[in-house]
Amino acid sequence: MNDSRVLTRSDVLVLGGGLMGTTAAFFLRTQHGRSVTLLERELVGRQASGTNFGNVRRQGRDLVQIPLANRARAVWGRVRELLGEDLEFVPYGHLRVCYTHEQAAVLERHARDVKPLGLDLELFSAEQLRRRWGIFSPGVVAGSLSARDGHANPRIAGPAFARAAQRAGAQVIEHAEVVHVERDGSGFTVHTAVGGRYRAEQLLVCCGAWSNRIASLFGEAVPMEARGPQMGVTEPLPYAVAPSIGVSTPIETESLYFRQIRRGNIVFGGGLKGPALADEICAYVKPDNTLRQLRELRRLVPAFANVQLIRVWSGIEGYTDDWTPVMGPSATTPGVCYAFGFSGEGFAISPGVGEVMAELMARGSTSTPIDAFSVQRFAAKKLQAA
Ligand SMILES: Cc1cc2nc3c(=O)[nH]c(=O)nc-3n(C[C@H](O)[C@H](O)[C@H](O)COP(=O)(O)OP(=O)(O)OC[C@H]3O[C@@H](n4cnc5c(N)ncnc54)[C@H](O)[C@@H]3O)c2cc1C
Repeated sequence: MNDSRVLTRSDVLVLGGGLMGTTAAFFLRTQHGRSVTLLERELVGRQASGTNFGNVRRQGRDLVQIPLANRARAVWGRVRELLGEDLEFVPYGHLRVCYTHEQAAVLERHARDVKPLGLDLELFSAEQLRRRWGIFSPGVVAGSLSARDGHANPRIAGPAFARAAQRAGAQVIEHAEVVHVERDGSGFTVHTAVGGRYRAEQLLVCCGAWSNRIASLFGEAVPMEARGPQMGVTEPLPYAVAPSIGVSTPIETESLYFRQIRRGNIVFGGGLKGPALADEICAYVKPDNTLRQLRELRRLVPAFANVQLIRVWSGIEGYTDDWTPVMGPSATTPGVCYAFGFSGEGFAISPGVGEVMAELMARGSTSTPIDAFSVQRFAAKKLQAA
């Protein structure tokens, strides 16, 4: 996986080895037979893709993301057979609960809206929640279950897709930071910080929170900032809670999600984000946020009142100003495609993103609607504002 000084040629260069890059490289090779080189600045799957909570969640998304999320869910279901590796995907359900009747109405409306898009949600009253799970505080008034969702292990997912792409013939080159891209008539030459040169007709830019550095070379930097979602994990408790659970609320400080892993530990996140310094490649946990998360955990499940915290962490994620990803072809430069800006929700849909981007780059179109994610929307909004 070392960089090379000779000019390496392939059909597609994938820039960035998070889950968007590794899944796209995998599908470009295995479904479309394209030759692929993936260039990763550090180690594959080390940034947002390896530090996230691991929710495989479809409900609660913007409706334009549901077809993509459904496609991703289909891949999660086949992931062991596709990769020959276990990503610890457990489809034991994703449950959203709420504290107010106004929010219960939001859950009901969402369930109605997503049904025609192929996502079936089961609604629960407070009493039904208590009968089924028996862990919630009396403040919880309603819930919505997406029975076929769940979670997977983010630490192993990106490297597993990269290994499978390599086994299928892709080149995966780590410690290869892309610093410059030259365009000529028939394609692109990409230069890395260690002196490597790579050539291809097509480029896929999926550098996560750092993608604007490359997009700006094509005049397409988007309004996006780096933030650090805050995570924590407790000591193990007796294993009792199956679904991945989140609070549905418009109040950011009240937001919380958690899941219990088989060993018994409670992994949690949600609420205010911490500082993420993209240039320093560093995201901090703010102790105040952790204390608030623990208060919200106790508010939701009183039995967690005295649980001991054993570790906290954060990661660097790119949030666009409309919290909608950028996916699709460049509007300025034929041959360039983008997949970045997943705004805290990209892990769940990553195998769908990879499959869609591979299809788009190999065939020129994709059967999953992605127009709403076009990079052009930012220029159009600017024009409208002017
Ligand atoms: C703490 C946390 C919790 C989250 N929880 C969830 C969750 O539960 N569910 C969910 O769906 N989503 C979640 N997310 C969001 C999800 O992790 C991201 O949306 C997703 O991983 C983004 O993948 P990516 O490939 O776009 O970016 P990344 O994983 O950041 O990968 C981008 C890669 O590009 C590389 N790179 C950057 N610049 C260059 C360059 N110039 N040259 C070469 N390589 C470069 C980086 O080193 C990095 O490896 C969470 C995110 C965080 C941070």
